[in-house]
Amino acid sequence: MSFLHIHHVHKRFGETHVLKGVDIEIEKGDFLVLVGPSGCGKSTLLNMIAGLDSISEGELRLDGQRINELHPSKRDIAMVFQSYALYPSMTVAGNIGFGLEMRKVPRAGRRAAIQRVAELLQIENLLKRKPAQLSGGQRQRVAMGRALVRDPQLFLFDEPLSNLDAKLRVDMRTEIKQLHQRLGTTIVYVTHDQIEAMTLATRIAVMRAGELQQLGTPQSVYDDPNNLFVAGFMGSPS
Ligand code: ADP
Ligand code: MG
Repeated sequence: MSFLHIHHVHKRFGETHVLKGVDIEIEKGDFLVLVGPSGCGKSTLLNMIAGLDSISEGELRLDGQRINELHPSKRDIAMVFQSYALYPSMTVAGNIGFGLEMRKVPRAGRRAAIQRVAELLQIENLLKRKPAQLSGGQRQRVAMGRALVRDPQLFLFDEPLSNLDAKLRVDMRTEIKQLHQRLGTTIVYVTHDQIEAMTLATRIAVMRAGELQQLGTPQSVYDDPNNLFVAGFMGSPS
């Protein structure tokens, strides 16, 4: 049985049929990158996995459990958004620890967890600052810290690097890859950047207009595209 099973998932917003029966299965420890043009339904799919949006049809299973109707707070999933969504009035430590506070983790436990994550992301020197005093890259690190500190079963990233400049994007990409290798976490990562997809993924899912075009290793999708759309999108040699 696969760790995350997206089974015949449909999404309709009124008359608009946004996801048209998506099937994806990944294993524990996989780094799945969802790619596809703007508007093809990547964020919608991620939001449904997180429970921020309802499913019109189909089923989601995480570690064997059906999660369709499970409240977002009951899903052992953390999401990192493109806009960092940090609390402006809280310090970095406060932002990172907030989710633990909500889960009634005692202060000493919170402090230890915040410290561990801060070391991992090399932001120990920033813990007392407010988000306004941080650069874009530092904010993105804090946003990742907020997700990491909960030690969830599954991480969701929605274009987390697209607000960063090119140089920082490459640095952060390397760091995310190292984090994945070090922690062995399972990740679903959305981007419209093919290079990012090729470097990060253990599995790539190529989407177009609400339909999955191909799912496979970066190598197989690049070398052996299912159709012209995938070949064009991935820049495969013809
Ligand atoms: P992507 O993340 O791949 O760019 P989205 O998942 O954000 O695409 O959007 C897919 C499609 O669904 C788009 O056509 C978008 O306009 C539509 N859509 C997304 N959210 C809503 C909503 N709340 N109501 C109506 N249409 C929506
Ligand atoms: Mg999107």
